[in-house]
Amino acid sequence: MAVGVFDLFSIGIGPSSSHTVGPMRAAAVFAEELKASGVLAEVAGLRVDLYGSLAATGHGHGTMTAILLGLEGFHPELILPDEVEARLAAIAETGVLQLAGAVALPYGVKDMVLRPLTVLPRHTNGMTFTVTGAEGTVLHSATFFSVGGGFIVREGEEDAAQQELEESKKELPLPFRTAAELLEHCRETGLGISDVMLVNEKASRTEEEIRAGLLHIWSVMEDCVATSLKREGVLPGGLKVRRRAPDWYERLKKESSRLEPGTPDSDGQDQDFHDPKYWQEWVNLIALAVNEENASGGRVVTAPTNGAAGIIPAVLFYALHFAPGMDQAGQQDRDDVVVRFLLAAGAVGVLYKEQASISGAEVGCQGEVGSASSMAAAGLAEVMGGSPAQVENAAEIAMEHNLGLTCDPIGGLVQVPCIERNAIAAAKAINAAKMALWGDGTHRVSLDEVIITMRETGKDMSSKYKETAMGGLAVNVVEC
Ligand code: SF4
Repeated sequence: MAVGVFDLFSIGIGPSSSHTVGPMRAAAVFAEELKASGVLAEVAGLRVDLYGSLAATGHGHGTMTAILLGLEGFHPELILPDEVEARLAAIAETGVLQLAGAVALPYGVKDMVLRPLTVLPRHTNGMTFTVTGAEGTVLHSATFFSVGGGFIVREGEEDAAQQELEESKKELPLPFRTAAELLEHCRETGLGISDVMLVNEKASRTEEEIRAGLLHIWSVMEDCVATSLKREGVLPGGLKVRRRAPDWYERLKKESSRLEPGTPDSDGQDQDFHDPKYWQEWVNLIALAVNEENASGGRVVTAPTNGAAGIIPAVLFYALHFAPGMDQAGQQDRDDVVVRFLLAAGAVGVLYKEQASISGAEVGCQGEVGSASSMAAAGLAEVMGGSPAQVENAAEIAMEHNLGLTCDPIGGLVQVPCIERNAIAAAKAINAAKMALWGDGTHRVSLDEVIITMRETGKDMSSKYKETAMGGLAVNVVEC
């Protein structure tokens, strides 16, 4: 299937789309294959090999525990945070895994084979699952790659998957791979960027389904923030990073001198007032809240990855609460903003998936935080009335100033620098949209040029800076 908006915004659990969501999905696919092949009852042994970045930073990213859950048959988009805790506690206590939910095997995190210095040819995030019978005979084995944003590819099927992708794109009414093609569709049809994306999405869903699906995505983002604002304390993993969002929220409410959003105001006026003087603080708060929830393994929307999951909600929150005219907007108009924002952001996300990468392990943090910032800038420019050229310009500015951003998470945890980096990138996205909207859409560097530059910069970047925790802050900051 061609990459669509619901691939770029999918519901999963933290802390990482490439190191948690993708591996869990791959393990769940393997478990389903075991069931379907009829060999499940014969399984007596299991082996999991993790390669490259998955092995290097897997512990900090929850890769191993995510794989255990996937092997039990859980899917990232369906499992609830409570189930995660309950099953992992049971496995840790008994030392027994329920393979595909049916066969009890003594297996745990410590049994996985880590090969951080071995990088398989297709991608650095490789994993192999093998099951054997009582005599040690291999019953089934499969290698998968987690290629970013929760997407997985099976070894040996890369060409077939690519071919299927190309075929499915032919079925789209307005297919595009580059920003130039996207803008050309806009010119020919007179449609905006979000409209082009909608036309393509309608090839696989009705407009009502698309609208309902995107509003649901936004509601999960809002729930993620609401949950995070109530959870105080220190994030898991040993770095002792304190959750700041709950305190900031209390302070912001006091300084804004109004009541909690969504509650009736004492003077009977608007029920959802956000003092414009504090727009930056609100944007910071939303980004921090989402990423703190992600870092603690909570439920998030990959946007387009988990590490960068706070940027799009923060900028969409800005659009809904601080963009001109929004204080007068009714529910229908607000819903329209959500839908058009996510469609335009999704269209730009397709460009990154098609021409470069959204994987920190492949191109560094510019591919995660940079792509999310660029998508958010496009979404904001779109709902603030930008022309297609201005929307493309907004996306270009946001990525241009994230080029070269390395991935160097301390302790391999998606906490430092990731959490604050989302707030900074959200502010960049808002500024990029504003700069583009004050121009006429003409600009010197095209979005396609900056995407190619990001890809080439990522290729040249040392592997130390690509989600291995072997360079940058990860080695220069003392962990304890
Ligand atoms: S540094 Fe960036 S790419 Fe790396 S884990 Fe953090 S958010 Fe993801």
